[in-house]
Amino acid sequence: MVIKTKADYVKSLREQKHVVYYKGKRVEDVTTHLGFIPHINAAAKTYELALQPEHEDLMTAVSHLTGERINRFTHIHQNREDLIKKVQMMRLISHETGSCFQRCVGFDALNALYSTTVEIDEKYGTNYHQRLIEYVKYVQKSNIMVVGGMTDTKGDRSKSPSKQSDPDQFLHVVERRKDGIVVTGAKVHQTGAINSHEIVVMPTVALGEEDRDYAVAFASPLNAPGVVLIFGRQTNEERKFEKGIDIGNLEFGLVGGEALIIFDKVFVPWDRVFMCGEYDFAQMFVERFAALHRQNYGGCKGGLSDILVGACGVVSEYQGTGKASHIKDKLAEMMHLAETIYCCSVACSAMGHKMKAGNYEPDTLLANATKYNVTKNVYEVARLAHDIAGGIIATMPFEDDLRSPEIGKYVEKYMTGVEGVSAENRIRILRLIENMTGGTSLAESMHGAGSPQAQKVMYNRRGNMEYKMKLAKKFAGVKESK
Ligand code: SF4
Ligand code: FE
Repeated sequence: MVIKTKADYVKSLREQKHVVYYKGKRVEDVTTHLGFIPHINAAAKTYELALQPEHEDLMTAVSHLTGERINRFTHIHQNREDLIKKVQMMRLISHETGSCFQRCVGFDALNALYSTTVEIDEKYGTNYHQRLIEYVKYVQKSNIMVVGGMTDTKGDRSKSPSKQSDPDQFLHVVERRKDGIVVTGAKVHQTGAINSHEIVVMPTVALGEEDRDYAVAFASPLNAPGVVLIFGRQTNEERKFEKGIDIGNLEFGLVGGEALIIFDKVFVPWDRVFMCGEYDFAQMFVERFAALHRQNYGGCKGGLSDILVGACGVVSEYQGTGKASHIKDKLAEMMHLAETIYCCSVACSAMGHKMKAGNYEPDTLLANATKYNVTKNVYEVARLAHDIAGGIIATMPFEDDLRSPEIGKYVEKYMTGVEGVSAENRIRILRLIENMTGGTSLAESMHGAGSPQAQKVMYNRRGNMEYKMKLAKKFAGVKESK
Protein backbone atom coordinates (compact mmCIF):
# COMPACT_ATOMS: atom_id res chain seq x y z
CA MET A 1 0.00 0.00 0.00
CA VAL A 2 1.39 3.39 -1.02
CA ILE A 3 -0.80 6.35 -0.16
CA LYS A 4 -0.49 9.37 -2.40
CA THR A 5 -3.89 10.98 -2.90
CA LYS A 6 -6.87 11.66 -0.68
CA ALA A 7 -8.68 8.84 -2.49
CA ASP A 8 -5.85 6.42 -1.62
CA TYR A 9 -5.99 7.57 1.99
CA VAL A 10 -9.74 7.12 2.31
CA LYS A 11 -9.61 3.73 0.60
CA SER A 12 -6.88 2.55 2.95
CA LEU A 13 -8.97 3.57 5.98
CA ARG A 14 -12.01 1.78 4.62
CA GLU A 15 -10.03 -1.40 4.11
CA GLN A 16 -8.21 -1.56 7.40
CA LYS A 17 -11.22 -2.71 9.45
CA HIS A 18 -10.00 -1.53 12.82
CA VAL A 19 -12.34 -1.82 15.80
CA VAL A 20 -13.90 1.64 16.31
CA TYR A 21 -16.75 2.64 18.61
CA TYR A 22 -18.79 5.83 18.39
CA LYS A 23 -21.46 6.51 21.00
CA GLY A 24 -21.56 2.90 22.13
CA LYS A 25 -21.82 1.38 18.66
CA ARG A 26 -19.26 -0.36 16.48
CA VAL A 27 -18.53 1.56 13.27
CA GLU A 28 -17.85 -0.67 10.28
CA ASP A 29 -16.68 2.04 7.90
CA VAL A 30 -15.23 5.21 9.42
CA THR A 31 -15.00 6.89 6.03
CA THR A 32 -18.77 7.19 5.63
CA HIS A 33 -19.56 8.10 9.26
CA LEU A 34 -20.38 11.77 9.82
CA GLY A 35 -18.66 11.69 13.20
CA PHE A 36 -15.32 11.18 11.46
CA ILE A 37 -15.57 12.68 7.97
CA PRO A 38 -14.40 16.20 8.94
CA HIS A 39 -11.33 14.75 10.72
CA ILE A 40 -10.54 12.55 7.72
CA ASN A 41 -10.84 15.58 5.42
CA ALA A 42 -8.44 17.56 7.63
CA ALA A 43 -5.83 14.79 7.78
CA ALA A 44 -6.24 14.20 4.03
CA LYS A 45 -4.94 17.73 3.46
CA THR A 46 -1.52 16.51 4.58
CA TYR A 47 -1.60 14.25 1.51
CA GLU A 48 -3.29 16.64 -0.92
CA LEU A 49 -1.03 19.64 -0.27
CA ALA A 50 2.08 17.48 -0.64
CA LEU A 51 1.07 16.85 -4.27
CA GLN A 52 0.83 20.55 -5.10
CA PRO A 53 4.07 21.88 -6.63
CA GLU A 54 3.75 25.26 -4.87
CA HIS A 55 3.84 23.49 -1.50
CA GLU A 56 6.48 20.91 -2.29
CA ASP A 57 9.19 22.71 -0.33
CA LEU A 58 7.21 22.76 2.91
CA MET A 59 5.13 19.61 2.55
CA THR A 60 7.84 17.24 1.39
CA ALA A 61 11.49 16.49 2.14
CA VAL A 62 14.22 14.21 0.87
CA SER A 63 14.67 11.15 3.05
CA HIS A 64 18.18 10.85 4.50
CA LEU A 65 17.59 7.09 4.57
CA THR A 66 16.57 6.45 0.97
CA GLY A 67 17.19 9.66 -0.97
CA GLU A 68 13.54 9.58 -2.04
CA ARG A 69 11.20 12.57 -1.85
CA ILE A 70 8.78 11.89 0.98
CA ASN A 71 5.91 13.52 2.82
CA ARG A 72 7.41 15.80 5.50
CA PHE A 73 5.23 14.11 8.14
CA THR A 74 7.41 11.01 7.75
CA HIS A 75 10.74 12.85 7.77
CA ILE A 76 13.51 12.82 10.37
CA HIS A 77 14.71 16.43 10.77
CA GLN A 78 18.20 16.83 9.35
CA ASN A 79 18.92 20.46 10.19
CA ARG A 80 17.42 23.61 11.70
CA GLU A 81 15.81 24.50 8.40
CA ASP A 82 13.78 21.29 8.57
CA LEU A 83 12.59 22.29 12.03
CA ILE A 84 11.54 25.73 10.82
CA LYS A 85 9.84 24.29 7.75
CA LYS A 86 7.84 21.99 10.02
CA VAL A 87 6.39 25.03 11.81
CA GLN A 88 5.73 26.88 8.55
CA MET A 89 4.03 23.79 7.18
CA MET A 90 1.74 23.64 10.20
CA ARG A 91 0.63 27.23 9.86
CA LEU A 92 -0.05 26.58 6.19
CA ILE A 93 -2.19 23.49 6.87
CA SER A 94 -4.10 25.31 9.60
CA HIS A 95 -5.00 27.89 6.98
CA GLU A 96 -6.18 25.12 4.68
CA THR A 97 -8.28 23.29 7.25
CA GLY A 98 -9.21 25.69 10.06
CA SER A 99 -8.73 22.65 12.25
CA CYS A 100 -6.25 20.24 13.77
CA PHE A 101 -4.85 18.00 11.02
CA GLN A 102 -3.63 15.38 13.51
CA ARG A 103 -0.64 13.94 11.73
CA CYS A 104 1.98 15.64 13.91
CA VAL A 105 2.00 13.34 16.91
CA GLY A 106 3.29 10.25 15.13
CA PHE A 107 5.79 12.44 13.28
CA ASP A 108 7.16 13.70 16.61
CA ALA A 109 7.20 10.22 18.13
CA LEU A 110 9.38 8.89 15.29
CA ASN A 111 11.81 11.79 15.62
CA ALA A 112 12.10 11.44 19.40
CA LEU A 113 12.65 7.69 19.08
CA TYR A 114 15.24 8.24 16.37
CA SER A 115 17.54 10.08 18.76
CA THR A 116 16.74 8.11 21.92
CA THR A 117 17.20 4.62 20.45
CA VAL A 118 20.80 5.44 19.50
CA GLU A 119 21.56 6.29 23.09
CA ILE A 120 19.79 3.23 24.49
CA ASP A 121 21.73 1.02 22.09
CA GLU A 122 24.98 2.69 23.11
CA LYS A 123 24.39 1.86 26.77
CA TYR A 124 22.76 -1.55 26.50
CA GLY A 125 24.03 -2.96 23.20
CA THR A 126 20.48 -3.34 21.90
CA ASN A 127 19.53 -2.87 18.25
CA TYR A 128 16.50 -0.61 18.60
CA HIS A 129 17.85 2.10 16.33
CA GLN A 130 18.21 -0.21 13.33
CA ARG A 131 14.70 -1.54 13.92
CA LEU A 132 13.42 2.01 14.06
CA ILE A 133 15.22 2.90 10.83
CA GLU A 134 13.51 -0.03 9.10
CA TYR A 135 10.17 1.13 10.47
CA VAL A 136 10.75 4.75 9.40
CA LYS A 137 11.63 3.53 5.91
CA TYR A 138 8.37 1.60 5.80
CA VAL A 139 6.40 4.65 6.97
CA GLN A 140 8.13 6.87 4.42
CA LYS A 141 7.56 4.47 1.56
CA SER A 142 3.94 3.64 2.34
CA ASN A 143 3.17 7.22 3.54
CA ILE A 144 0.82 5.85 6.19
CA MET A 145 -0.55 8.04 8.97
CA VAL A 146 0.91 7.18 12.35
CA VAL A 147 -0.73 8.26 15.59
CA GLY A 148 1.54 8.88 18.54
CA GLY A 149 0.38 7.09 21.68
CA MET A 150 1.79 8.86 24.67
CA THR A 151 -0.70 9.67 27.43
CA ASP A 152 -1.65 6.87 29.80
CA THR A 153 -4.86 6.99 31.76
CA LYS A 154 -2.69 7.34 34.93
CA GLY A 155 -5.23 6.21 37.55
CA ASP A 156 -4.18 7.65 40.91
CA ARG A 157 -1.85 10.51 39.93
CA SER A 158 -0.08 10.41 43.29
CA LYS A 159 1.26 6.93 42.51
CA SER A 160 3.88 5.70 40.06
CA PRO A 161 2.89 3.12 37.41
CA SER A 162 3.96 0.05 39.40
CA LYS A 163 2.20 1.29 42.56
CA GLN A 164 -1.26 1.60 40.99
CA SER A 165 -3.92 -0.72 42.38
CA ASP A 166 -4.87 -1.43 38.76
CA PRO A 167 -1.60 -2.17 36.93
CA ASP A 168 -3.17 -1.37 33.55
CA GLN A 169 -3.54 2.35 34.29
CA PHE A 170 -0.20 2.63 32.53
CA LEU A 171 0.38 0.54 29.44
CA HIS A 172 2.85 -2.24 30.16
CA VAL A 173 4.42 -5.46 29.00
CA VAL A 174 2.50 -8.45 30.34
CA GLU A 175 4.46 -11.14 28.55
CA ARG A 176 7.86 -11.45 26.87
CA ARG A 177 7.91 -14.13 24.20
CA LYS A 178 10.52 -15.41 21.80
CA ASP A 179 8.86 -13.68 18.90
CA GLY A 180 7.76 -10.48 20.62
CA ILE A 181 5.93 -8.91 23.55
CA VAL A 182 2.33 -8.76 24.72
CA VAL A 183 1.05 -5.43 26.10
CA THR A 184 -2.01 -4.31 28.03
CA GLY A 185 -3.23 -0.84 28.96
CA ALA A 186 -4.70 2.18 27.23
CA LYS A 187 -3.68 5.45 25.68
CA VAL A 188 -6.02 8.40 26.05
CA HIS A 189 -6.68 11.66 24.09
CA GLN A 190 -5.19 10.15 20.94
CA THR A 191 -5.56 12.78 18.24
CA GLY A 192 -6.39 11.41 14.80
CA ALA A 193 -6.38 7.82 16.01
CA ILE A 194 -9.59 6.78 14.26
CA ASN A 195 -8.22 7.79 10.88
CA SER A 196 -4.64 6.61 11.32
CA HIS A 197 -3.13 3.33 10.18
CA GLU A 198 -0.61 2.58 12.89
CA ILE A 199 0.27 3.75 16.38
CA VAL A 200 3.67 4.38 17.91
CA VAL A 201 3.33 3.82 21.63
CA MET A 202 5.76 5.41 24.09
CA PRO A 203 6.09 5.97 27.82
CA THR A 204 4.46 9.05 29.32
CA VAL A 205 6.42 9.70 32.54
CA ALA A 206 9.87 9.27 34.03
CA LEU A 207 10.18 5.73 35.40
CA GLY A 208 12.07 3.94 38.16
CA GLU A 209 13.52 0.46 38.24
CA GLU A 210 10.32 -1.01 39.65
CA ASP A 211 8.50 0.38 36.60
CA ARG A 212 10.62 -1.59 34.15
CA ASP A 213 7.61 -3.22 32.45
CA TYR A 214 6.19 0.22 31.72
CA ALA A 215 9.29 1.34 29.84
CA VAL A 216 8.05 0.24 26.46
CA ALA A 217 7.93 1.80 23.01
CA PHE A 218 6.67 0.06 19.89
CA ALA A 219 4.70 0.38 16.67
CA SER A 220 1.51 -1.53 15.97
CA PRO A 221 -1.13 -1.49 13.26
CA LEU A 222 -4.41 -0.18 14.64
CA ASN A 223 -6.19 -3.24 13.31
CA ALA A 224 -4.05 -5.61 15.40
CA PRO A 225 -6.14 -8.07 17.47
CA GLY A 226 -6.91 -6.60 20.90
CA VAL A 227 -6.82 -2.92 19.85
CA VAL A 228 -10.14 -1.11 20.42
CA LEU A 229 -10.69 2.58 19.67
CA ILE A 230 -13.39 4.56 21.48
CA PHE A 231 -14.05 8.02 20.04
CA GLY A 232 -14.31 10.91 22.49
CA ARG A 233 -17.38 13.13 22.69
CA GLN A 234 -16.79 16.68 21.48
CA THR A 235 -18.51 19.98 22.13
CA ASN A 236 -21.34 20.48 19.61
CA GLU A 237 -20.46 17.27 17.83
CA GLU A 238 -24.10 16.42 17.13
CA ARG A 239 -24.07 19.41 14.78
CA LYS A 240 -21.89 17.36 12.41
CA PHE A 241 -24.93 15.19 11.76
CA GLU A 242 -27.08 18.15 10.79
CA LYS A 243 -24.67 18.86 7.92
CA GLY A 244 -25.55 22.53 8.16
CA ILE A 245 -23.97 25.84 9.05
CA ASP A 246 -24.29 25.50 12.83
CA ILE A 247 -21.11 23.41 13.06
CA GLY A 248 -19.02 26.38 11.90
CA ASN A 249 -16.57 24.39 9.76
CA LEU A 250 -18.44 21.44 8.35
CA GLU A 251 -15.76 20.23 5.97
CA PHE A 252 -12.90 19.94 8.43
CA GLY A 253 -14.40 20.07 11.91
CA LEU A 254 -12.67 22.19 14.52
CA VAL A 255 -10.48 19.85 16.52
CA GLY A 256 -8.56 16.69 15.84
CA GLY A 257 -10.94 13.98 16.90
CA GLU A 258 -9.53 12.17 19.89
CA ALA A 259 -9.92 8.56 20.94
CA LEU A 260 -9.28 6.29 23.88
CA ILE A 261 -7.25 3.37 22.58
CA ILE A 262 -7.44 0.09 24.45
CA PHE A 263 -4.70 -2.52 24.23
CA ASP A 264 -6.10 -5.79 25.48
CA LYS A 265 -3.20 -8.26 25.34
CA VAL A 266 -1.87 -6.99 22.02
CA PHE A 267 1.06 -8.86 20.49
CA VAL A 268 3.96 -6.83 19.07
CA PRO A 269 6.77 -8.59 17.17
CA TRP A 270 10.31 -7.72 18.25
CA ASP A 271 11.13 -5.88 15.04
CA ARG A 272 8.56 -3.25 16.00
CA VAL A 273 9.78 -2.84 19.61
CA PHE A 274 11.99 0.21 20.20
CA MET A 275 12.32 0.18 24.00
CA CYS A 276 11.60 -2.62 26.42
CA GLY A 277 12.66 -2.31 30.02
CA GLU A 278 15.18 0.55 29.74
CA TYR A 279 13.37 2.60 32.37
CA ASP A 280 16.32 4.99 32.76
CA PHE A 281 15.66 6.34 29.26
CA ALA A 282 11.96 7.08 29.78
CA GLN A 283 12.49 10.62 31.05
CA MET A 284 14.92 11.46 28.25
CA PHE A 285 12.45 10.17 25.72
CA VAL A 286 9.47 12.01 27.22
CA GLU A 287 11.38 15.31 27.29
CA ARG A 288 12.45 14.96 23.67
CA PHE A 289 9.02 14.00 22.43
CA ALA A 290 7.46 16.82 24.45
CA ALA A 291 9.88 19.38 23.00
CA LEU A 292 9.16 18.19 19.45
CA HIS A 293 5.42 18.32 20.02
CA ARG A 294 5.37 21.61 21.95
CA GLN A 295 7.40 23.15 19.13
CA ASN A 296 4.36 22.75 16.86
CA TYR A 297 1.78 24.75 18.68
CA GLY A 298 2.75 28.24 17.56
CA GLY A 299 2.45 26.91 14.01
CA CYS A 300 -0.92 25.20 14.16
CA LYS A 301 -2.59 27.38 16.80
CA GLY A 302 -1.00 30.48 15.31
CA GLY A 303 -2.62 29.51 12.01
CA LEU A 304 -5.99 28.94 13.64
CA SER A 305 -5.71 32.28 15.45
CA ASP A 306 -5.19 33.93 12.04
CA ILE A 307 -8.57 32.56 10.98
CA LEU A 308 -10.20 33.87 14.13
CA VAL A 309 -8.67 37.31 13.55
CA GLY A 310 -10.10 37.22 10.04
CA ALA A 311 -13.50 36.09 11.31
CA CYS A 312 -13.55 38.95 13.80
CA GLY A 313 -12.60 41.39 11.06
CA VAL A 314 -15.50 40.14 8.95
CA VAL A 315 -18.02 40.16 11.77
CA SER A 316 -17.08 43.67 12.81
CA GLU A 317 -17.72 44.79 9.21
CA TYR A 318 -21.03 42.92 9.16
CA GLN A 319 -22.09 44.51 12.42
CA GLY A 320 -20.93 48.03 11.66
CA THR A 321 -18.19 48.15 14.30
CA GLY A 322 -15.25 47.76 11.90
CA LYS A 323 -14.18 51.38 12.08
CA ALA A 324 -14.36 51.67 15.88
CA SER A 325 -10.89 52.28 17.26
CA HIS A 326 -11.31 49.81 20.13
CA ILE A 327 -12.16 47.06 17.63
CA LYS A 328 -9.08 47.83 15.57
CA ASP A 329 -7.05 47.77 18.74
CA LYS A 330 -8.46 44.36 19.71
CA LEU A 331 -7.78 42.95 16.26
CA ALA A 332 -4.18 44.18 16.48
CA GLU A 333 -3.90 42.59 19.92
CA MET A 334 -5.17 39.28 18.54
CA MET A 335 -2.62 39.41 15.73
CA HIS A 336 0.12 40.15 18.22
CA LEU A 337 -0.86 37.14 20.30
CA ALA A 338 -0.85 34.89 17.23
CA GLU A 339 2.49 36.16 15.96
CA THR A 340 3.99 35.80 19.44
CA ILE A 341 3.30 32.08 19.60
CA TYR A 342 4.50 31.67 16.03
CA CYS A 343 7.74 33.51 16.97
CA CYS A 344 8.20 31.05 19.81
CA SER A 345 7.84 28.05 17.50
CA VAL A 346 10.27 29.52 15.00
CA ALA A 347 12.72 30.45 17.76
CA CYS A 348 12.87 26.99 19.34
CA SER A 349 13.41 25.58 15.85
CA ALA A 350 16.12 28.09 14.94
CA MET A 351 17.87 27.25 18.22
CA GLY A 352 17.54 23.53 17.58
CA HIS A 353 20.50 21.24 18.06
CA LYS A 354 22.06 18.18 16.54
CA MET A 355 21.55 14.94 18.43
CA LYS A 356 24.01 12.07 18.77
CA ALA A 357 21.94 10.20 16.19
CA GLY A 358 22.58 13.00 13.69
CA ASN A 359 19.01 14.33 13.59
CA TYR A 360 17.92 17.75 14.88
CA GLU A 361 15.56 18.57 17.70
CA PRO A 362 14.24 21.94 18.89
CA ASP A 363 15.58 23.79 21.92
CA THR A 364 13.88 22.15 24.89
CA LEU A 365 13.21 25.16 27.07
CA LEU A 366 12.08 27.38 24.21
CA ALA A 367 9.74 24.64 22.97
CA ASN A 368 8.20 24.51 26.43
CA ALA A 369 7.92 28.32 26.47
CA THR A 370 6.06 28.03 23.14
CA LYS A 371 3.45 25.67 24.48
CA TYR A 372 3.07 27.52 27.76
CA ASN A 373 2.36 30.74 25.85
CA VAL A 374 -0.17 28.88 23.75
CA THR A 375 -2.11 27.88 26.86
CA LYS A 376 -2.56 31.59 27.57
CA ASN A 377 -2.50 33.41 24.24
CA VAL A 378 -5.08 31.22 22.53
CA TYR A 379 -7.51 31.76 25.40
CA GLU A 380 -6.90 35.50 25.18
CA VAL A 381 -7.49 35.40 21.42
CA ALA A 382 -10.78 33.60 22.13
CA ARG A 383 -11.72 36.14 24.82
CA LEU A 384 -11.15 39.01 22.41
CA ALA A 385 -13.08 37.17 19.69
CA HIS A 386 -16.06 36.82 22.03
CA ASP A 387 -15.73 40.48 22.97
CA ILE A 388 -15.74 41.60 19.31
CA ALA A 389 -18.49 39.18 18.23
CA GLY A 390 -20.89 40.26 20.96
CA GLY A 391 -23.38 38.27 23.01
CA ILE A 392 -25.09 37.07 19.84
CA ILE A 393 -22.63 34.18 19.50
CA ALA A 394 -24.27 32.62 22.55
CA THR A 395 -27.91 33.17 21.60
CA MET A 396 -28.32 32.77 17.84
CA PRO A 397 -31.29 30.80 16.52
CA PHE A 398 -30.81 27.43 14.84
CA GLU A 399 -30.18 27.20 11.13
CA ASP A 400 -33.57 25.46 10.99
CA ASP A 401 -35.19 28.68 12.24
CA LEU A 402 -33.53 30.62 9.45
CA ARG A 403 -34.85 28.10 6.93
CA SER A 404 -38.34 27.86 8.46
CA PRO A 405 -41.20 28.91 6.14
CA GLU A 406 -43.01 30.38 9.15
CA ILE A 407 -40.34 32.21 11.12
CA GLY A 408 -37.42 32.44 8.69
CA LYS A 409 -38.45 35.98 7.72
CA TYR A 410 -38.05 37.11 11.35
CA VAL A 411 -34.63 35.52 11.67
CA GLU A 412 -33.58 37.14 8.38
CA LYS A 413 -34.88 40.54 9.50
CA TYR A 414 -33.52 40.58 13.04
CA MET A 415 -30.24 38.73 12.53
CA THR A 416 -29.11 41.09 9.81
CA GLY A 417 -26.45 43.68 10.66
CA VAL A 418 -25.37 46.33 8.20
CA GLU A 419 -27.35 46.77 5.02
CA GLY A 420 -26.46 44.43 2.21
CA VAL A 421 -25.17 41.59 4.40
CA SER A 422 -27.49 38.60 4.68
CA ALA A 423 -28.44 37.15 8.04
CA GLU A 424 -27.07 33.85 6.79
CA ASN A 425 -23.60 35.24 6.17
CA ARG A 426 -23.54 36.93 9.55
CA ILE A 427 -24.68 33.72 11.25
CA ARG A 428 -22.10 31.67 9.34
CA ILE A 429 -19.20 33.78 10.50
CA LEU A 430 -20.51 33.97 14.07
CA ARG A 431 -20.91 30.18 14.15
CA LEU A 432 -17.32 29.81 13.03
CA ILE A 433 -16.19 32.01 15.93
CA GLU A 434 -18.48 30.22 18.37
CA ASN A 435 -17.17 26.79 17.42
CA MET A 436 -13.51 27.74 17.12
CA THR A 437 -13.62 29.14 20.64
CA GLY A 438 -15.79 26.42 22.15
CA GLY A 439 -15.05 23.75 24.71
CA THR A 440 -13.06 21.07 22.93
CA SER A 441 -11.15 23.51 20.70
CA LEU A 442 -9.86 25.59 23.58
CA ALA A 443 -9.11 22.66 25.86
CA GLU A 444 -6.86 21.29 23.13
CA SER A 445 -4.70 24.42 23.39
CA MET A 446 -4.50 23.97 27.14
CA HIS A 447 -3.75 20.27 27.40
CA GLY A 448 -2.57 19.11 23.97
CA ALA A 449 1.18 18.31 24.08
CA GLY A 450 0.99 18.44 27.86
CA SER A 451 -0.80 20.61 30.42
CA PRO A 452 0.80 23.91 31.52
CA GLN A 453 2.14 22.34 34.69
CA ALA A 454 4.20 19.96 32.58
CA GLN A 455 5.91 22.97 31.05
CA LYS A 456 6.52 24.46 34.50
CA VAL A 457 8.15 21.19 35.50
CA MET A 458 10.53 21.66 32.60
CA TYR A 459 11.35 25.22 33.71
CA ASN A 460 12.18 23.88 37.14
CA ARG A 461 14.22 21.04 35.68
CA ARG A 462 16.00 22.85 32.84
CA GLY A 463 15.74 26.52 33.77
CA ASN A 464 19.30 26.59 35.20
CA MET A 465 18.25 28.23 38.44
CA GLU A 466 21.64 27.81 40.05
CA TYR A 467 23.31 29.84 37.32
CA LYS A 468 20.68 32.57 37.56
CA MET A 469 21.13 32.79 41.34
CA LYS A 470 24.87 33.00 40.83
CA LEU A 471 24.40 35.92 38.47
CA ALA A 472 22.20 37.71 40.97
CA LYS A 473 24.71 37.22 43.75
CA LYS A 474 27.53 38.47 41.54
CA PHE A 475 25.78 41.74 40.72
CA ALA A 476 24.60 42.24 44.29
CA GLY A 477 28.12 41.69 45.57
CA VAL A 478 26.96 38.89 47.85
CA LYS A 479 29.73 37.01 49.61
CA GLU A 480 28.50 34.02 51.55
CA SER A 481 30.57 32.51 54.33
CA LYS A 482 30.73 28.75 54.05
FE1 SF4 B 1 -0.77 18.85 15.08
FE2 SF4 B 1 -1.56 21.03 16.30
FE3 SF4 B 1 -3.27 19.04 15.94
FE4 SF4 B 1 -1.34 18.76 17.71
S1 SF4 B 1 -3.03 20.24 17.81
S2 SF4 B 1 -1.90 17.27 16.16
S3 SF4 B 1 0.34 19.90 16.75
S4 SF4 B 1 -2.33 20.28 14.35
FE1 FE C 1 -2.60 17.60 20.26
